[in-house]
Amino acid sequence: MARYTGPVCRLCRAEQKKLFLKGARCRSDKCAMNQKRGLPGKDPKGRTGKRTEYGMQLREKQKIKRIYNMLESQFHLFFERALRLPGVTGDNLIALLESRLDNVVYRMRFAASRAQARQLVLHGHILVNGKKVDIPSYQVRKGSVVSVKEKSRKLVCILDALSEVSKSGVVPWVELDIDAQKGTYVAVPARADVTDLADIKEQLVVELYSK
Ligand code: SF4
Repeated sequence: MARYTGPVCRLCRAEQKKLFLKGARCRSDKCAMNQKRGLPGKDPKGRTGKRTEYGMQLREKQKIKRIYNMLESQFHLFFERALRLPGVTGDNLIALLESRLDNVVYRMRFAASRAQARQLVLHGHILVNGKKVDIPSYQVRKGSVVSVKEKSRKLVCILDALSEVSKSGVVPWVELDIDAQKGTYVAVPARADVTDLADIKEQLVVELYSK
């Protein structure tokens, strides 16, 4: 299945939730979700029908997939991996998604969005423990050092993204050295630590795939 290339704000409107797909714009007044435009293709004042249980499970899965910028097949593989690990499957799923290299690059603020982080990884700008890794789904291990390749350190998109750190900081499970453009993935976050996904109900995804 092809990757979605349409207007990404439409995805947020479809979920009626800010998914933070566009970097700095998402934190500005220009965010489409601040304009209360309702569901795409529907009258903002129109009635929205009650969702079925299946509908709610499906929407929750779509939300998580869109936040982490993943295709269905890839996402399902992550779910299966989460299922095989000991512990709560939903928690495992979020931990695996958080440990993806593109996500870690985004969390370290080398990129303004996960989509941009994916591009940086694919184009070989990122090193893990000093070695180039160009696989966005690569699982970063606790204690690994993720850095920007020396030749890429003046890229405008990276410098712009890093300039946001002073405003909103970084998540507690990464340590960042802005000047060296490198960071350490100190720990795999516990589910409760991922506060920006606090309203996401990954258990609904587990129920959906368990049918
Ligand atoms: Fe979503 Fe960001 Fe667009 Fe706002 S600006 S609707 S958060 S992608």
